[in-house]
Amino acid sequence: MQAELNIGLLGHVDHGKTSVTKALTGTWTDIHSMEIKRGISIKLGYADSVFKKCKKCSGAEAFTSKDKCKCGNGEFEYTRKVAFVDAPGHETLMATVISASSIIDGALLIIAANEPCPQPQTKEHKMLLETLGIKNLVIVQNKIDLVTPEKAEENHKQIKEFLADSMYKDSPIIPISANYDANIDALIEAIEKYLPTPKREEGKDPLMYIARSFDVNKPGTEIEKLVGGVLGGSLIQGNLKVGDEIEIRPGISKSEKSPPMPITSKIIGLHEGKESYQDVSPGGLIGLSTLLDPSITKADGLVGNVIGLPGKLPPVLSEADFEYSLLDRVDFENLGIHQNEILVINIGTTTTLGVVDKIKKSKMHIRLRHPICANPGTTLAISRKVGQRWRLCGKGKLL
Ligand code: GDP
Ligand code: MG
Ligand code: ZN
Repeated sequence: MQAELNIGLLGHVDHGKTSVTKALTGTWTDIHSMEIKRGISIKLGYADSVFKKCKKCSGAEAFTSKDKCKCGNGEFEYTRKVAFVDAPGHETLMATVISASSIIDGALLIIAANEPCPQPQTKEHKMLLETLGIKNLVIVQNKIDLVTPEKAEENHKQIKEFLADSMYKDSPIIPISANYDANIDALIEAIEKYLPTPKREEGKDPLMYIARSFDVNKPGTEIEKLVGGVLGGSLIQGNLKVGDEIEIRPGISKSEKSPPMPITSKIIGLHEGKESYQDVSPGGLIGLSTLLDPSITKADGLVGNVIGLPGKLPPVLSEADFEYSLLDRVDFENLGIHQNEILVINIGTTTTLGVVDKIKKSKMHIRLRHPICANPGTTLAISRKVGQRWRLCGKGKLL
């Protein structure tokens, strides 16, 4: 069974995103040695889980991701496979969070009960979700084991206040303890109720965003035993199947100066977690085995590219026109963007610098450092340099 949707875990560093992912799925997603050393997630973590509803129990009690219900019963009347994308909460990794968020259908915003709310990345991530138009959100009030009931209540009020003027003012707030596995059933119930599987349009050409890319061969593997590059990402629309010829755009450049050339290959395997499929539809993080030279795919080399059928991909643009609006930032001056200003544009899983060529009140023309492959109407996030850092400052739509 393939996951039906992707749910992002966002929130301030150390508030418990990776721990909540573990409580929901049984998987610890901080797997890279650098991440373990620094204690923060750098790359996207990914894990999935099958949620079930016990036939014998009722209310939140009935929900579980385990093989058996707490009551001992193992028969379920409902199941849904859900994929979780665990984003880094560190302030310097915002670009990774933005690109992760381009493949999610709904989100959990993790807020630790033992710190005043909102913390800086709590604010930043909420703003990002609004910018990308992600409507379905569940607030997870984590670490309730560390506070008294009075403190938890006070923190709940702060969260309510923080959300009061936003599209999330009615989002549920579920108190849990990820470390003590407390109230996880209520969280699953809220996910089932508030984060529905989106309706997918039938009959569209496949479009997959690449979020990871790998060389899965161990160093020193003999040439005859080498396997092709692996691409990880999410199908935004349409279907892909084993045997399909694919095109990857914008592709790769032969040298620094030359424009990227599209690449073609063939799908020889489709995977999600440990399972293999003959065909896949949107939902979950898909691993696609190809015949590509693994030196191209190694170390996330193809992140930001898109996959589709040959000749059926969106146009590749090295300059773009888009509509935009600036966010209300209280923490820095976010006044008019000016001509020749350098911005960071995130569109799909692509991150690129761009120079503002022409600008009007709600439209701009921008020259891009790296070309993008995207359809008109695609949402984009705009960041600008404030002091030493790139800060989310606006949203836009490709014209
Ligand atoms: P992330 O940076 O948001 O991914 O946070 P982590 O999941 O890595 O958690 C940060 C720290 O908080 C770790 O030491 C966790 O063990 C701890 N932690 C996470 N959830 C809980 C919880 O529910 N209760 C307590 N006491 N500690 C927690
Ligand atoms: Mg983490
Ligand atoms: Zn039961």
